[in-house]
Amino acid sequence: DLSHGVALYLEDITVSFDGFRALNQLNLTIDAGELRCIIGPNGAGKTTMMDVITGKTRPDAGKAFFGQTIDLTRLTEPEIAHAGIGRKFQKPTIFERHTVFENLELAMKTDKRVWTSLFAWLSGEARDRIADTLRLIRLDKEADRPAGLLSHGQKQWLEIGMLLMQEPRLLLLDEPVAGMTDDETMRTAELFVSLAGKHSLVVVEHDMAFVEKLGGKVTVLHEGSVLAEGDLATVQNDQRVIEVYLGR
Ligand code: ADP
Repeated sequence: DLSHGVALYLEDITVSFDGFRALNQLNLTIDAGELRCIIGPNGAGKTTMMDVITGKTRPDAGKAFFGQTIDLTRLTEPEIAHAGIGRKFQKPTIFERHTVFENLELAMKTDKRVWTSLFAWLSGEARDRIADTLRLIRLDKEADRPAGLLSHGQKQWLEIGMLLMQEPRLLLLDEPVAGMTDDETMRTAELFVSLAGKHSLVVVEHDMAFVEKLGGKVTVLHEGSVLAEGDLATVQNDQRVIEVYLGR
């Protein structure tokens, strides 16, 4: 039930690289259905945090749970993805020569694809899911075009659609609007707001207009731990945050 409970729970997560603490007793709780933005200066630990959540990096200490029961520190990267955590990197990994529709089809879970090819295709169930996703990511008119012909923003949306085909409960997005036009950025914000509730989202982003439009709680990372947390206006007026961003 996504309207209750915790989607992600990090407690005292520490990650060291050659003695340097990229994460230093990081604590983070994301509620189910929440849309959370993570901001912070370069080197704050944002990428390392995402790497811990997806199992790419093992923490040296601390707890990391997906939902109430899934201990992320005991799972491999593929196991974590299969458990329902989807990550979008900055660089799209779409199949440029395939159509938009085919990209979404290819992105369905392998077990579902097998099912699809045998039975569900006939019932149109898979087609319906792809059509719903196409509308959601505003690419329904581009379904039959090769993905390589899409604009930069559209490619990003297609990749988000491909992630959604995996039916993740938690979506991790790393600077999703980098390189987008203002219009694409605002449409992406609308998309994310519409995904929240059904999914939990953690968005690492530098674009403050985008963060403002998302409207959720903001966590400021600095030197591997949480410096401030709250709505954007509150953290922007926090003296410690101002010092970190403007320099002392
Ligand atoms: P952010 O994403 O907020 O810019 P990162 O998580 O990428 O921050 O990095 C946090 C700190 O950890 C940085 O000082 C970075 O240089 C260091 N770091 C990250 N990954 C490694 C690594 N594989 N080896 C050594 N240092 C690393």
